[in-house]
Amino acid sequence: MTVTRVPVRDDLADLTPYGAPQLDVAVRLNTNETPTPPPADVMEQIGKRVAALALNRYPDRRATALRVALGQRAGLGPEQVWAANGSNEVFTQLFQAYGGPGRRLLLFSPGYAAHPLLARVTLTPVVTAPLDDDFRLSAPAAAAAVAEHDPDLVCVVSPNNPTGAPVDLDVVRALHDAGHALVVVDEAYVEFGAPSALALLAELPRLVVTRTFSKAWRMAGVRLGYLYGPAWVVDDLRKVRLPYHLDALTMEAGLVAIERADEVTAHVAEVAQERERLRAGLAALPGVEVFASAANFLLFRTAVADLFERLLARGVLVRDFSSAPRLAGCLRVTVGTPEEDDTFLAALATALQEGSP
Ligand code: PMP
Repeated sequence: MTVTRVPVRDDLADLTPYGAPQLDVAVRLNTNETPTPPPADVMEQIGKRVAALALNRYPDRRATALRVALGQRAGLGPEQVWAANGSNEVFTQLFQAYGGPGRRLLLFSPGYAAHPLLARVTLTPVVTAPLDDDFRLSAPAAAAAVAEHDPDLVCVVSPNNPTGAPVDLDVVRALHDAGHALVVVDEAYVEFGAPSALALLAELPRLVVTRTFSKAWRMAGVRLGYLYGPAWVVDDLRKVRLPYHLDALTMEAGLVAIERADEVTAHVAEVAQERERLRAGLAALPGVEVFASAANFLLFRTAVADLFERLLARGVLVRDFSSAPRLAGCLRVTVGTPEEDDTFLAALATALQEGSP
């Protein structure tokens, strides 16, 4: 007999690979990127700097220059900074180092879908506690969840994806003080208007804050994420990272972006303003409930079936959460350019009329 195929690990057999549809449509508002790239002269400088790299050599395994530059932005030394290929790799490494069989990761629901997935792949058991009715988390509820589940690792997202609400700093403190877990605050969208848990780093010894270049830094194509945390976390992550996990091109692009941070992130206030215009536009449509957001996206709910497909038929791609627990009828739209948002609002108005019972 010729064996032509090896079965995947038993626990992965029914796993669907993670990821939103990547479709070639006119208006893509489904993955929370910034709709415009960094300024042309920043891109040019990245090109020049990348061209000068000695790509025949392995990159700096410790990513020292990048970690120094990231640390300076937060008043921290490089020993408190870690970087990897997107914050998703940072989570993978955190779960590899502090999760795994026999450990417990506490997540809150509804939350970011990649967290349970990465936990599963790293064999990390997950326990889930609910956000309250308006998708917020209170300090007492946070402390109660920690007391009930006794986790080794807690991950909370602020502002939360897909719901948009920020997590108050007293909630982070409660998560930390109620147990013994490493508390990870995923701040992928924090630049758009949420309080940062960075303010608590000196006070809470088991706190980690993760960030990304994919959203406010408008460099999702680069794959660069990072964390600020205690030096012992950075030391532990070195045990699980691949050799030379971060390539020279990514690091150089990140360094240029940090040098030109003001220009690269100049649009953030505009995006926050545009979010409020989009929110008002959504709220004005009959039959639409829109949730407050401190991020660059909005979650909204309608009673119309197949709304995702109806929008797609009009060339507008959003994220479909309508069959996720507690999110029945919900879609998430990324803040785009004003033109994209107007196209979306017009498509939505028509689709709602068409789909009304
Ligand atoms: N955290 C949250 C809450 C996100 O929504 C995302 C991206 N969708 C990420 C982390 C991952 O970002 P990246 O890997 O691109 O840094």
